[in-house]
Amino acid sequence: MILEVIKYGNPVLRKKGVKIEKITPEIKTLIADMFETMYAAKGIGLAAQQVSQALQLTVLDIRGITDRPSTLELNGKETDPEKIMPLVLINPEVKPFGDTVSAPEGCLSFPEIYNDITRPEKLEVRALTEKGETLEFKCGGLLSRAIQHENDHLNGVLFIDRMPRADKEELKDELDELQQKTKAASKK
Ligand code: ZN
Repeated sequence: MILEVIKYGNPVLRKKGVKIEKITPEIKTLIADMFETMYAAKGIGLAAQQVSQALQLTVLDIRGITDRPSTLELNGKETDPEKIMPLVLINPEVKPFGDTVSAPEGCLSFPEIYNDITRPEKLEVRALTEKGETLEFKCGGLLSRAIQHENDHLNGVLFIDRMPRADKEELKDELDELQQKTKAASKK
């Protein structure tokens, strides 16, 4: 089922996700619905907050973007990042490392707003899969950036929080308008 993607201005986007203690049939349905919603919106990542659920859960699939490379190190070996796609991360713990890089980002909760965001290049990830198994890997490039963006959502952090102040200032009118539109829609 395609779910409504929550837009900026809805307070659920600012909620820290609750840890998932048990992967119930409801959680599995939510995961399937999140993938369906993400693919329909042509996104490469979606956090539970973006479908109104403040949980430590995100889904990703970077295969839709072919011009921005990723790296993956799984069990100490360089591996094709596509091998772990589509990717479900439950209760992720992430540790960014390496040099910082700036690259464009967008967000399904901010339609048509894009900006360069500076983040560490590499990421160490530990999370549970949909089957409840522990998954550990290191990644770089687009995959690292996408997971850092989604992990921020799980903590109520949005990409506008990481924008340089001048860029955010420039987008102020668009952001205010989106926020007001979201608030007006929620009152209906
Ligand atoms: Zn986002």
